[in-house]
Amino acid sequence: MASLLLKDIKKVYKNGFKAVKNVNLEIKDKEFLVLVGPSGCGKSTILRMIAGLENISKGKLFIDDVLVNDMEPKDRNIAMVFQNYALYPHMTVFDNMSFGLKIRKMDKKKIKERVYWAAEILGIKDLLSRKPSKLSGGQRQRVALGRAIVRDPKVFLMDEPLSNLDAKLRVQTRAEIIKLHQKLNTTFIYVTHDQTEAMTMGSRIVVIKDGDIKQVDTPQNIYNNPADKFVASFIGSPQMNFLECEVIDKKEKTAIKLGESIIYLDECYGNKLKKEDYLGKQVTLGVRPEDITFNKEKSMNKIVGKVDFIEYLGSENYIYMSTEIGNLVMKSNIKDRVFIGEEKDIYFNVEKIHFFDKETEKKI
Ligand code: ATP
Repeated sequence: MASLLLKDIKKVYKNGFKAVKNVNLEIKDKEFLVLVGPSGCGKSTILRMIAGLENISKGKLFIDDVLVNDMEPKDRNIAMVFQNYALYPHMTVFDNMSFGLKIRKMDKKKIKERVYWAAEILGIKDLLSRKPSKLSGGQRQRVALGRAIVRDPKVFLMDEPLSNLDAKLRVQTRAEIIKLHQKLNTTFIYVTHDQTEAMTMGSRIVVIKDGDIKQVDTPQNIYNNPADKFVASFIGSPQMNFLECEVIDKKEKTAIKLGESIIYLDECYGNKLKKEDYLGKQVTLGVRPEDITFNKEKSMNKIVGKVDFIEYLGSENYIYMSTEIGNLVMKSNIKDRVFIGEEKDIYFNVEKIHFFDKETEKKI
């Protein structure tokens, strides 16, 4: 059980590189929080500072209201699971899992009980006498999780724990970690660069770029209401389409001009753009692939595109199109019959579109 508070946390490495700029974050007890962002954005550095493996250059870190900046890692009651598992190759699974308890001088009987309890939860009881070299990647990862669980820590930190597994095993282990969180009912902080993992695992997601937090919210809110163009492009696959357009007043309705096409906006967004003084200005339109369709909804909001190529995924298709204002990708029903080179009318779901300021890239 633990809540954490990161207050104005900064990390400047010895070479002067500012890896974490000014992070403020409250992590609730028993929460599954995911830190996500592109490679090098500072996620692991934040995690390592929480674990105590990296010193904090500035700011305060509290665990359960206790300032822990200067507390030794072993005294923080935190367990960390790494990408490379970090198992001792010469030890059996049992010895790997019990090692941390032995050095804490726990009673032998209790150690055995704990290791068997964790092995049961993870389904690795029959592997306890094996050495890591005789295990698959997925099994090794479970042992690494087991080694963390036996300590009964207040907080679990996981740094890309699935990235060495193949795609199928990754999905399976993802579900196992979610179940593990429910079973253990403790605070999990999980680092990944994979937006699908973030979306499917986190109760809240923290999107990070260049050492700064861009948005903290539930997966649904981040997906439906991204704070800026970076978050909008990073979360979602295929990524959101961005098109440059001009906000205009047409027949007393707010509309956007996309090349030669005019798209009328719903009243709510139209009024917002008007009120915030965007009339006559260029903005960036964002539209997710599933919010573009071939089905005519309103005769006035179409643009014309040419099909460049199609990705067949079985349950749906991704259709890549070129239009006079740029390329875009849409998700389409497998029943839609389209052919490469064909010209099609494309319609946007105007209730689901987003606009971003061209300079600040913030959502309007
Ligand atoms: P990845 O997903 O690739 O692991 P990350 O988001 O976890 O990336 P960090 O490992 O936190 O990123 O690194 C953040 C930045 O700090 C990177 O640009 C990295 O090169 C830099 N960095 C990390 N460790 C050091 C160090 N010891 N000295 C100097 N710079 C470092």
